Amino acid sequence: MPEAERLAAVRDRIARAARTARRSPEEVTLIAVSKTHAAEAIEPLIAAGQRSFGENRVQEAEEKWPALRDRHAGIDLHLVGQLQSNKAEAAVQLFDAIHSVDRPSLVTALAKAIDRSGRAPLLFAQVNIGDEAQKGGCPVAELPKLLREARTAGLALAGLMCVPPVGVEAAPYFALLAKLARDHGLALTSMGMSGDFETAVMLGATHVRVGSALFGARG
Ligand SMILES: *Cc1c(COP(=O)(O)O)cnc(C)c1O
Repeated sequence: MPEAERLAAVRDRIARAARTARRSPEEVTLIAVSKTHAAEAIEPLIAAGQRSFGENRVQEAEEKWPALRDRHAGIDLHLVGQLQSNKAEAAVQLFDAIHSVDRPSLVTALAKAIDRSGRAPLLFAQVNIGDEAQKGGCPVAELPKLLREARTAGLALAGLMCVPPVGVEAAPYFALLAKLARDHGLALTSMGMSGDFETAVMLGATHVRVGSALFGARG
């Protein structure tokens, strides 16, 4: 299926899930996660009207996106992967949103980079919602402290992001992330991938991150 048809199908599924939950489809931003895919695979989606894209590595994004942005206006670029503090400066220069703020040292590095650059990317705190060992994200119990530290550093976090455990029903984790966001007065939730974005939309996701359902399987 060509990319434009896949895009139409995903948008349609988002709209149906939103209406089921009595939400407006416009409340949901579809981020096309283009990691590992070359410009030739991305161009057809841009031609079909897609503007929000996600990458998980700063260096890969630096290699691909400046040229694409020269050719197309209005691109909105999201970092959805883990960020090393020494790449905070580069990430702030390149990305319009960062979904992986997960520890105090990164809060400090981002606050400094944002100060220096005058740019203001949309920021999400990533929560290790299943409290899994080896998984990125702030432990659920440490989220209040991370949010406090961000406030102290003058960093305005707009929402929460999660990647739930693999192989189990995602809905309880999406519901928990939505509750944590509400409890902390944060408006945005970045949750839902190719396998579960409709569930995420029904549970209040404002941003879904969809890769393989748009681009096909990654090589
Ligand atoms: C790769 C990736 C996605 C997209 O995954 P798909 O299953 O291909 O839709 C979403 N979020 C993050 C953090 C990712 O790394």
